Formats: sequence, C-alpha cells, structure tokens
Amino acid sequence: MRTDLSDSKALCLHCEHICEANLKICPICDEELHQRKPDSFNRTFFLTLAALIFYIPANYFNIMKTVSLTTYEDNNIIGGILYFFVHGEYFVGTVIFMASVFVPIVKLIILMFLLYSIKTSSSWRLIDKNKLFSMISIIGRWSMLDIFVMGLMISMVHFEGLAVVTLGWAALSFAIMVVLTMFATTNFDTRLLWDDLNNDN
Ligand SMILES: [Zn+2]
Repeated sequence: MRTDLSDSKALCLHCEHICEANLKICPICDEELHQRKPDSFNRTFFLTLAALIFYIPANYFNIMKTVSLTTYEDNNIIGGILYFFVHGEYFVGTVIFMASVFVPIVKLIILMFLLYSIKTSSSWRLIDKNKLFSMISIIGRWSMLDIFVMGLMISMVHFEGLAVVTLGWAALSFAIMVVLTMFATTNFDTRLLWDDLNNDN
C-alpha cells in the first residue's frame, strides 16, 4: 500500500484506513493522522544515538558478583558471560550473550543503517530494508524480555550460590538503553526509505 507524499492520501497507522491527507484525525478510529510520522528521522536518530551511548556503561560497569567458597569478584556483562562459560554453564552464557550483548547492538546498528540509507536516498534493496525493520520491531516487542531473561538467568545461578546481580549503573544503563531503543523503533517510519525513490519517478 503506497501513499506518496505527493498524493492527497494518508494511511492511518492505527486502523490502516486510507484517509484524506488534509484531515488531522482519522474519521474511523479518531487517532492522529500524519502522512509520515512527525519528525521521524531526527527523533529516531537521536534516540538511537542515546541508546548507543548507554550501551557503553551497560557493558562497562559491573553487573554481578560471582562468589565461590574462597573468592568473590565483580564482573561486567562480558566478564559474567565468560564466567558462565568457564564454569561449563554454556546455555546460560549463550542466552545472556544473545539477550544483553548481541541483539541490542544489532538492533541499533540496523536502525543507524536504515537512517543512513534514508539520508543518502539509497534505492538499494528497499524491500529487504523494510523486512529488516519488521524484524527488529518484532524483536522489539520482546525487548523487556532482555532484562527479564538476564535477571532470571542470573537469579537462577544465584540460587546455586554462584552469582548475585548488582543493581548498579550497568543495570540502570541497560534498562535505559532498552527503553530508548523501543522509542527509536516506534518513531521510525519505513515510508521515508521510499520517498526519494517516488520523487525520482
Ligand atoms: Zn484510523
């Protein structure tokens, strides 16, 4: 379904009704109506940038204490993951790595890549880029799961007397990063990818 900026139509993102673009409110569902999400590019850019900044303290500061009979040490996320691998807890280590290191940064890199693509008016593989965005919005619905999984896994290991989560700067930064990524995703408008292509035609 295409609603070019030159058209006099706007798609309601709430009920998917095609409305007249001069309307401010969708006549079907009373939601606000825009041809494109307002200030989508800038909002997505600054939210993604802020999330990237919070990714650093989330990974740098200590997030858990690992305890054994003779020693205890503070670990950041990567240190914690290594600890699990060293102690043969491969499943826990892998889940924490995916949920708290790999997936969050991949989401942010994809958002930056899509923004770059809009900025450079690239017409390269637009359908795939749309799919890429659908993928991160689907993962995004489970964003809070990142925090949940991390908490669950660490508390499970805590139960075995191995590790304790430190609710410090790392956990706070991680939560802020997840929320910023969520807002960045909801502010992104895939139609911006196609606008320059339509203008060229
Ligand atoms: Zn509507």
